[in-house]
Amino acid sequence: MGDSTLELNDDQVQLRDWVHGFAADVMRPAAAEWDEREETPWPVLREAARIGLYSMDFYAQCYFDPTGLGVPVVMEELFWGDAGIGLSVVGTTLAAVGVLANGTEEQIGEWVPQMFGTPDDIKLAAFCSSEPDAGSDVSAMRTRARYDGATDEWVLNGTKTWATNGGLADVHVVVASVEPELGARGQASFVVPPGTRGLSQGQKFKKHGIRASHTAEVVLDDVRVPGRCLLGGKENLDARLARARERSATGERSRNAAMATFEASRPAVGAQAVGIARAAYEVALDYARTRVQFGRPIIENQGIAFQLADMRTRIDAARLLVWRASWMAVAGKPFTAAEGSMSKLYAGETARWVTAQAMQILGGNGFTREYPVERMHRDAAVYTIFEGTSEIQRLVIARALSGMPIR
Ligand SMILES: Cc1cc2nc3c(=O)[nH]c(=O)nc-3n(C[C@H](O)[C@H](O)[C@H](O)COP(=O)(O)OP(=O)(O)OC[C@H]3O[C@@H](n4cnc5c(N)ncnc54)[C@H](O)[C@@H]3O)c2cc1C
Repeated sequence: MGDSTLELNDDQVQLRDWVHGFAADVMRPAAAEWDEREETPWPVLREAARIGLYSMDFYAQCYFDPTGLGVPVVMEELFWGDAGIGLSVVGTTLAAVGVLANGTEEQIGEWVPQMFGTPDDIKLAAFCSSEPDAGSDVSAMRTRARYDGATDEWVLNGTKTWATNGGLADVHVVVASVEPELGARGQASFVVPPGTRGLSQGQKFKKHGIRASHTAEVVLDDVRVPGRCLLGGKENLDARLARARERSATGERSRNAAMATFEASRPAVGAQAVGIARAAYEVALDYARTRVQFGRPIIENQGIAFQLADMRTRIDAARLLVWRASWMAVAGKPFTAAEGSMSKLYAGETARWVTAQAMQILGGNGFTREYPVERMHRDAAVYTIFEGTSEIQRLVIARALSGMPIR
């Protein structure tokens, strides 16, 4: 028999405990302040960079853990610390993953280090795909990329929305349509280097939760980027577009490579939701043990104790789904039942539900900003919305299960 185990190895335990220390000592004490300020928490980012937690090397180490658990373990701890600050700390990785998934080795080597900068000179990156009329429906994207052969440049025009770090970032990764008739298959990703003319920040959103993370529109007005900024290169794009044209002429449906990438990246988002849920559950458990009503701690009522039992059970179930999908991604297992989407769906819904129960267990205190669960509940809400809404996850899972074009 092989040595199969669900136990973290020594390296992973060390990694988890190190990140937990940062989450407990640096993020938690700063959480309420930056939630109120609704700004990127630069001092926390600087501290993360100083100790090596905000760095390309750190994320490379996590991503290349052969068990796949490096990323979810780190995400859970960071978001246990605080989700708004957590998203500020990991927002850059969304764009970095865009380059890792689509770029050549040369492009990865050129752009990913510029996304993080150095502890003395921190940089940020943003991933810009969503648009005002293209959220769940990525194929409706209007941002256009036109190739100017005379100068070997790509010219980008359009408006992106909801971009984490949008406009604030040094490097933007922008998804744009090269051949609109081909829908999502006619799209490509481009790097917009620091200081490129024509890229500007539109409105910054005032949000319900994760308020320490900057979210804004990004306007692209005749943005010219060198040919080498097309991720994957022109030859690759031309070949891909030719295949897509052929398929659309014959009516053949293609397996979308982007969907495979999403399946691999969604568990990381699920792990963030697990972190928020665990944090709220712990507060509720402590509170229920010490709050006395009718002469006994409220946890002695089954109504409360069973609620906590269900909260913990769902959190553990969500983590196991996240770990399974993370392992499948590194092991190269096909996501035949959309297991990546499953993990994000269940963890996102769990975070919303658990944080709501935690508020209830804290009674009036749960409803105030004196206690952290109301912030956790606001933060959790986005986990059924971004990186694919819960409805879209269900659509993806149902299509994978049935092979039918369910709408
Ligand atoms: C805080 C935050 C940060 C974000 N960061 C980024 C980022 O960094 N980069 C980026 O590109 N995007 C980002 N997003 C965008 C996010 O991914 C989108 O908001 C999300 O994909 C949903 O798109 P939408 O808001 O346009 O909703 P819509 O697509 O308009 O959906 C509205 C509702 O209709 C439902 N719906 C839509 N189609 C169907 C269907 N076929 N069947 C059933 N129900 C359906 C949805 O589930 C949802 O409930 C962010 C969003 C937020 C809120």
